[in-house]
Amino acid sequence: NGLFLGNRYESTATASDTSTSPPPEKYEYQAEVSRLMDLIVNSLYSNKEVFLRELVSNASDALDKLRFLAVTEPELLKDAVDLDIRIQTDKDNGIVTITDSGIGMTRQELVDCLGTIAQSGTAKFLKAMKDSKDAGGDSNLIGQFGVGFYSAFLVADRVVVSTKSPKSDKQYVWEGEANASSFTIREETDPEKSIPRGTRLTLYLKPDDKGFAHPERIQRLVKNYSQFVSFPIYTWQEKG
Ligand code: ADP
Ligand code: MG
Repeated sequence: NGLFLGNRYESTATASDTSTSPPPEKYEYQAEVSRLMDLIVNSLYSNKEVFLRELVSNASDALDKLRFLAVTEPELLKDAVDLDIRIQTDKDNGIVTITDSGIGMTRQELVDCLGTIAQSGTAKFLKAMKDSKDAGGDSNLIGQFGVGFYSAFLVADRVVVSTKSPKSDKQYVWEGEANASSFTIREETDPEKSIPRGTRLTLYLKPDDKGFAHPERIQRLVKNYSQFVSFPIYTWQEKG
């Protein structure tokens, strides 16, 4: 069906890993994603702030999906958490966290969605890049088509996605780095990181982009780009 299911590699755990949790598994990105990541990470695209619009729109889509499915499957809402989006910032460490209580992803969905080109906008972007004479860096195309989830790598050099689908009794963690051709998936076993439902994205910002971890900056971007999102978006500052 043309869907790429990531290659499974040997475990990345070391012999000294004494925890009982299953070790992380390594997957290769689909070739197109690697190319896209390369373009994103190395582009001189200056309008990096679009990452927030893309990630908030994914959070909103995930909440919409849950709300829609819950019409016929009300038990999906059994974990009685509100449908909302929360954005936290840690400016000292340059970290932005975006949490939604939406549909989440199963392990297989993590592999399928965050390792391949799922969305049409991204596919169009790659086609436009190919057609563009200046194949190396027509960076305006990034803003024109939107590069979805991968736009996180405009500002972050490491992204951690921890997610829990109501279809699964386990929470999984996807982890990827800028300039890497592979990502890992493992089970979340730290009870402190457990979420009842939905997805939490943690962006470890690049040194030059740590300014995005200021709550005022995030609030301004939410106001500018995400004002029509139909779920509450909460932003606040971590206690310092
Ligand atoms: P698009 O949103 O256009 O499908 P993206 O690259 O933005 O493309 O996201 C790819 C896919 O990853 C989404 O279609 C969705 O299945 C999944 N995804 C991304 N973010 C989330 C999220 N917060 N919750 C659930 N699924 C998500
Ligand atoms: Mg999207």
